[in-house]
Amino acid sequence: MSLAKQLHALDGQSYAKYRNLKGKHQLGELTVHLDHIQADPYAPPSTVRVFATADHLENLADHLTTVATTDYLARRIRQRAPREISIGTFGPEVLERSCIQFHRVPGSSRWVMEIHLLVSLPAAGRRIKGHQAARLITQVLPDLLRDATKEIDHQELDETITLLKDQQAIRDELPRRGLVAFIANGSVLPRAAGNSSAPLQYAEPFESPDSVSVSFDLPSGRTLTGMGIAHGITLIVGGGYHGKSTVLNALEHGVYPHRAGDGREFVITDPDAVAIRAEDGRSVAGVDISSFISDLPQGTDTTRFSTTNASGSTSQATNVVEALEAGASAVLIDEDTSATNFMVRDELMRQLVKTEPITPFTARIKELADQGISTVLVAGGTGAFFSVADRVLGLENYRVSDLTAEAHRLGAQQRHHCAAQPLRLPKDRVPQQIKSPRKPPRARGVHTIQIGHEDIDLSALSQLVSVEQTRAIAGILEQIIVTQQQGDNHNRGETNLTLRSLSELAPRWKGHLAMPRRHEVMAAVNRLRSLRVS
Ligand code: ADP
Ligand code: MG
Repeated sequence: MSLAKQLHALDGQSYAKYRNLKGKHQLGELTVHLDHIQADPYAPPSTVRVFATADHLENLADHLTTVATTDYLARRIRQRAPREISIGTFGPEVLERSCIQFHRVPGSSRWVMEIHLLVSLPAAGRRIKGHQAARLITQVLPDLLRDATKEIDHQELDETITLLKDQQAIRDELPRRGLVAFIANGSVLPRAAGNSSAPLQYAEPFESPDSVSVSFDLPSGRTLTGMGIAHGITLIVGGGYHGKSTVLNALEHGVYPHRAGDGREFVITDPDAVAIRAEDGRSVAGVDISSFISDLPQGTDTTRFSTTNASGSTSQATNVVEALEAGASAVLIDEDTSATNFMVRDELMRQLVKTEPITPFTARIKELADQGISTVLVAGGTGAFFSVADRVLGLENYRVSDLTAEAHRLGAQQRHHCAAQPLRLPKDRVPQQIKSPRKPPRARGVHTIQIGHEDIDLSALSQLVSVEQTRAIAGILEQIIVTQQQGDNHNRGETNLTLRSLSELAPRWKGHLAMPRRHEVMAAVNRLRSLRVS
């Protein structure tokens, strides 16, 4: 019996009978797999895979082409899909995703694409709406996929691919030019609202000062000019509300490529740059923060610092050290989200308060730079970094100017306090067995992973941008738990993540993942309250 007929026949029956349809079905030229069928209408949606021809697409063996093509096709599906069918959530970032996978047909030069969808199978109460389901799966779905993936605008697709390649070319070139980041002239950095990722209309476009201006010749033939932020210490100063945090936020997100029209397509940041903030309340397991904090009251050991409730300064110190442990090449810090006592300590305070466990960031920033770890720091309220900064960029009415010379002149009289002990770089911690929860870890929104009875709070991770990434991290956490149980203790912070390996980690969600960075994966492990390390 055809799938349509089977669905019609199920009309009015109990919802669980949908399960009878599990398996492979042929719908014209599409092959449809109903993989996991939801037990009831309120459970997470069913997972459906569709195989369709990809012969009309080109260069599918090329990595960037497939990333761009997947993004292009998936967004078209999302735009056109009815409420019941989902292919994922999409922000302005172009992420490597598993929702469409391309396969070469064995023994031929042909390609097929495997499209992963989440489908809510229609119900009336707890009964099957069979006629509606038949329409949804056997008419709406094939029409949607034809429209979205076959009848495409090839020029638009080419432009998507070209843009991604141009962005990647700059990213690849950054280290050769000694740069941490690049912001092209004409970029639009501010967003339309605090809860929006759309560009602000009538914004002041970005314009680099001449002294730090650099140009890139792109594979497409274009040449772009803009501001290069060199390795070392970069300070961003300026009056309140003059656009400092907006520049830093753009740099934070510049670790990902952005789609056309975003305004930040050519804000390109070193992929290992990590945003650091204070995060009081977080838990910490055995982190050596003694470079920043030592001699706490009651003899608390800060070479293996653990707490269930970190303060502003200890949490920020922990975040810096953990970022270094995960291989950060640069830290991005905003005064707005920092603990003041972690960042600076002024002369009067030094004289008044003699016992201070904190070695402020000002006293370490140079050593970090000497170790190859750059800092981009927004500081509008203190001049404490003037003398150590390699360059000082001023923002006034959203326009950048180079204030380095003036800041160095003013900072020349400054007494710079160096730390008494040299910086201790983090040692590798090894997590001890994590108590295995009954159910696998699960992403609940972008910033929460539920694991057993615990919610891991990821809200401080501003560079985690999609729930598909969070799902991938949940899969990795599960794998860490599993391999630990098998006695392998060396899995922490998987360095060579691929989407294919991720798919194996989270089989149920394998088609609904996006690539997270190593930094966010490790950050999630680090925020697990039940984490113990040796
Ligand atoms: P600061 O961190 O210096 O206090 P923000 O970066 O928070 O300032 O920016 C203040 C306001 O100005 C925000 O509402 C932001 O959206 C807006 N803004 C930032 N950059 C621009 C720009 N280039 N053009 C127009 N508005 C901007
Ligand atoms: Mg600010």
